[in-house]
Amino acid sequence: MKNRRIIIKCKCGNELYLKLIGGQYQYSYRENCACGRDWLLEDLSEDCDEDEDSER
Ligand SMILES: [Zn+2]
Repeated sequence: MKNRRIIIKCKCGNELYLKLIGGQYQYSYRENCACGRDWLLEDLSEDCDEDEDSER
């Protein structure tokens, strides 16, 4: 099982440490920023990439 953290930079400028959701979402990481943006990231490769931004 992977247990690494993914760090992304929110559009508001905060750095977020995405946490593994687990369960059926073994490779999905999620965190809510203080600005209200909800980040969800799927770990598809070795690189971390931010491509999910459905919240306004
Ligand atoms: Zn933010």
